[in-house]
Amino acid sequence: MNTQNLLKIAKQFGAPIYVYDAETIASQYTRLTNAFKGVGSLRLNYAAKALSNISILRLMNQLGSGLDTVSIQEVKLGLMAGFKPESIIFTPNGVSLEEIEEASALGVQINIDNLSILEQFGSKHPDVPVCIRINPHVMAGGNSKISVGHIDSKFGISIHQIPHLLRIVDLTKMNINGIHMHTGSDILDIDVFLYASEILFDTAKNFKNLEFIDFGSGFKVPYKTGDIETNIEELGKKLTTRFNQFCEEYGKELTLAFEPGKFLVSQAGHFLAKVNVVKQTTSTVFASVDSGFNHLIRPMLYGASHEILNISNPKGRERYYSVVGYICETDTFGSNRRINEISEGDILCFKSAGAYCFTMSSNYNSRFRPAEILWYKGQAHLIRERETFDDILRNQVDVKDLFIKPKPAVVK
Ligand SMILES: *Cc1c(COP(=O)(O)O)cnc(C)c1O
Repeated sequence: MNTQNLLKIAKQFGAPIYVYDAETIASQYTRLTNAFKGVGSLRLNYAAKALSNISILRLMNQLGSGLDTVSIQEVKLGLMAGFKPESIIFTPNGVSLEEIEEASALGVQINIDNLSILEQFGSKHPDVPVCIRINPHVMAGGNSKISVGHIDSKFGISIHQIPHLLRIVDLTKMNINGIHMHTGSDILDIDVFLYASEILFDTAKNFKNLEFIDFGSGFKVPYKTGDIETNIEELGKKLTTRFNQFCEEYGKELTLAFEPGKFLVSQAGHFLAKVNVVKQTTSTVFASVDSGFNHLIRPMLYGASHEILNISNPKGRERYYSVVGYICETDTFGSNRRINEISEGDILCFKSAGAYCFTMSSNYNSRFRPAEILWYKGQAHLIRERETFDDILRNQVDVKDLFIKPKPAVVK
């Protein structure tokens, strides 16, 4: 979608606002499917936590995707969005047995990532097929907060615990129908990914009734020009060959599953914010926008770098700016960015704002969360209204009667 359309949306619906381009999502979906077209049975389960607006989930469902969920609430959202229970996989970490049972009762595929719950669930529900999340102990991922497959990680069942795992499966007579890993976000090195896959294949041989092998996700996407991304096509070629070979050894055609989040939605998202103040200090020029890390926390949380464009003045002279938010603590979107000259009132566009942006937003500083727009077939559709003051007060209990001033004592 082009800049003119983004500007029109900002004018019509106001800023700050998130805009998602359905066409980009669809083309990423197709790109990933094509990369693995050599696999007999492929399943993409969109990782809902990246962007969980119900209309986005409906779009994913319509594209033919399944859904990867990490909370019972995401499971329920997925069902509301029209996904069949069997198209949903529940991959939580550290949740209670009750939550897993609730998801299982809704008919979704359960994925268990620790031996304690596996033993309890298997003892109570031996007939429910379960997928297990393996920790292959491979160091992968863009930074320590999103690397989840290494030795110190809380995720998955360690490959060193396979004997214990097998004992539990044996004693409970439970049925393991899938095996899964998710080693972290921002995987660059395909060979590291393939190496982890070998560990998964090795582990898979221990189970006789597998239906699928889930390789998780973590495909790196570009955030700014020049960023390297996972070479999906090359990964597709190499893993397809290896997977088909494994299926032959295993004696059954298994489904190859992935659960991409970022890959499907990151680049489809644009975050638009209006410049409130241009402030020249002794050391820099700040452009302060009507937003902050309450709306887009990735720069402050992960040191993520989102490209920032001034779509109100795309031909203006380029100057250096620090783009900051209005939150009352350090709140920097980008430092020393070359951006077309900014005036107060201009609309800045933060690119690649589809994944882990709106879903991580909050009401910090008692601000409203932004509206969301789906751009579909050349038209803007409002898919979330901007919050209002009522939303800030919702669920708050005002105990004003507690603090009634005592009447002053009457002095005689
Ligand atoms: C977050 C998550 C994903 C998605 O990761 P991306 O880097 O966004 O593709 C996939 N699987 C699981 C289990 C996750 O927790």
